[in-house]
Amino acid sequence: MERTEIAQLKAYIEEAQIIAFFGGAGVSTESGLPDYRSKDGTYTELEKKALDPKKIMSRKFLTEQPEAFFNRSHNKRTEPAPNEAHIVLAEMEKAGKDIRVITQNVDGLHQQAGHRFVLELHGHNRTWYCMECTRVYSPREIQKDERNIPRCPIENGIVRPSVVLFGENPNKEIVEKSKATIKTADLLIIAGTSLSVNPARNYIHQFKGKHVVVINNEKIDTGNLEIDLFIEGKVGETLAAVKES
Ligand SMILES: [Zn+2]
Repeated sequence: MERTEIAQLKAYIEEAQIIAFFGGAGVSTESGLPDYRSKDGTYTELEKKALDPKKIMSRKFLTEQPEAFFNRSHNKRTEPAPNEAHIVLAEMEKAGKDIRVITQNVDGLHQQAGHRFVLELHGHNRTWYCMECTRVYSPREIQKDERNIPRCPIENGIVRPSVVLFGENPNKEIVEKSKATIKTADLLIIAGTSLSVNPARNYIHQFKGKHVVVINNEKIDTGNLEIDLFIEGKVGETLAAVKES
């Protein structure tokens, strides 16, 4: 990232009344959460295939291979913490800037950083629920069977996180709110996402405001939505540079 780009982004942020921040996996990589889709990262093509979210984060995988779904090494990480991206955005919001986060991540790190306006397109991990009786569980209440699969006493239902898996539809209300947010914003920041997951692309085309900024480690295709500023780099580092400039 260049100093002129940081200055430009800062000017856009200062001038904006309502900012829509549309974020993807790249917003959390600096918290140690991997983005298998990204070109950088230490994963081989074979590993990427085995870890492909389209497979392991799908409804099909959960229902057909619950044991494998709940026993991925993926689940056994230490707890991630917010990085500069989450922290700087939350600080700006606290200082009175109207920054509305729309995230494709399920890690809750924006809220953990103190951000109040967060729309989670793909759900979250804070609560789990039984797929049979729909009872909601806090992670602490979850009882696992001998195969390490979380179970509910009613009909032995599988208890799963409140995330939207591949093969499932996002919550309609969240989708409508996200679209309305992008529609009313005058600055749209698209960060850490390749926009490869549909319908992400549809959301950004709701934008009618002044400026579009992309912060990502590689160029992305926004279709006919014109980009005013592209910053190649990490989201946390970029926002930290804006804060310090
Ligand atoms: Zn149940």
